[in-house]
This record gives sequence, C-alpha cells and structure tokens, in this order.
Amino acid sequence: MSEGLLVAKDRVITVRYAIRGADGTEVESNREGEPFVSLHGHGSLLPAIETALDGKASGERLNFTLTPDQAFGEHRSDFTQRISKKYLPNPNRLKPGEQTTLQTREGPRTVTVIKVGGKVVDIDLNHPLAGQTLEFDIELVSVREATAEELAHGHAHGPGGHHH
Ligand code: ZN
Repeated sequence: MSEGLLVAKDRVITVRYAIRGADGTEVESNREGEPFVSLHGHGSLLPAIETALDGKASGERLNFTLTPDQAFGEHRSDFTQRISKKYLPNPNRLKPGEQTTLQTREGPRTVTVIKVGGKVVDIDLNHPLAGQTLEFDIELVSVREATAEELAHGHAHGPGGHHH
C-alpha cells in the first residue's frame, strides 16, 4: 500500500531504535516493545534524527552518533525548578532520583525528582540523557501518508501513536 514512499514532512513513519552511550551501553530501546510511530517533521523526534531520516525508504537502517548539543543538550547544574505538585502525575508517590513527566508548552518532558515537599517538588529539568554523546541505531519499519485528521492534530494515530 505504502510501497516506495520516502520519508518526508507530513508522512507517518514507524521506527524501531536503540540508543547507546559512548561506552556502548544500551540506554534506551524499543526493539522488544511497540514500534514508535511519528508524524514526520512535527518535532516528536529530535531535529537531527528527523533530518537523518529525510528521504529514506522503509527497510533502511541508519546508524549515527550525535553530540549532546545535537541530542538532549548539555547537562546544566543550575537547571532545576520548584514546581507545584498539581503539575505532576501522582506527586505523592515520587521519590528523589525518580523520573516523571512534566507537561510543558512544548509537550511532555522527562524530568528527575530532587526533593519532595508538602506542596512542591524540586525537579531537575535536564533530560536524563543530557550531556551524553549518543549512538543511534534506527530501523525504518514503514512510511505512509498521514490522514487529514492526523495532519489536523499534528501527531500520528493508531498503534504506537496517539489513541483518542
Ligand atoms: Zn490526534
């Protein structure tokens, strides 16, 4: 059905990926789980990854290394914030060192809990992979045209995408 389509803005892509640190340790992978589905060109992947995937065909495999500034940013020691518990899911279950998701204007952001108070939580806004040079191994599983609804919403629907 989508035979021969190449990756381009406003097409929906399905990928499997693994991310390894500079020492070769795998830090993240979805090889075992559900493939990741993304509306290409809408920022759900890092800009450097979207650029690397541009023009590729399904079945292609990419391997490349990104420096911190191309990946999740440099680690900043002062990048912390005290926020109200109402902005966090299940705030009373959080413990220092745990990761949680903060909803921001730019979308969901993974943050690390520093300290939990009565009404507020101190969080570290650095991405857990900030400061790391990372190797990406990406397999492009499929490429298809987006539906009008997906384009209107700005994200992919269906398995691996948004369900609503
Ligand atoms: Zn939607």
